[in-house]
Amino acid sequence: MRTPLIERVPVRDLKGRPLTPCSVEKALENVRTGLARWDPDGVLHLNYQPLAHRRIYRQVQRRDGYVCAWCGGPGSTLDHVIPVCWGGETSLENCVIACRACNHSRNNALPSAFVEWTGYRPRHPILRRVLAHEAEYVARAQERLKTRPLSSCLSREEAQIWVAYHLPEAEREIPPPTLAPLTRIKPDMSPFGEYFVP
Ligand SMILES: [Zn+2]
Repeated sequence: MRTPLIERVPVRDLKGRPLTPCSVEKALENVRTGLARWDPDGVLHLNYQPLAHRRIYRQVQRRDGYVCAWCGGPGSTLDHVIPVCWGGETSLENCVIACRACNHSRNNALPSAFVEWTGYRPRHPILRRVLAHEAEYVARAQERLKTRPLSSCLSREEAQIWVAYHLPEAEREIPPPTLAPLTRIKPDMSPFGEYFVP
């Protein structure tokens, strides 16, 4: 019986801290798409900071507790208020805690579209601020995406969007941001009934 050959490539972050090794294919793809570079010793260095993502998550969780900012139900996922594909950053200012149902069903929709769709009136101060001036927040996020460095990205998705936005226009393959929530919430996966604030 043949044992499959699985070659793993050592990976480090921007500060040289070791991360989980990845496959050769993934490493090559990371380099091809500009998310990483090789050093002379054959170590892959990521150009973004996945370790800082956990730090932001912990800080947002400490601030918001285990409460979904949208529906008020129990929640524990990190939700980007201006979604990453719209240029939103992983930062304390742009992240709240959301339950899986809200996070998943909102997908890449902007807060106003989600609120319109669900009928929620979120009380979280960040959501209220963004909802009151959403167009400005989106414009600012996209402007910042053009000027902030790739190293400011804290997840692979964020780094991919950054790279896509910095390619010449003809080479861009950015999935168009969705205007409305993609997935409908199934009643059985949702705490909505209980926490619904019309
Ligand atoms: Zn929720």
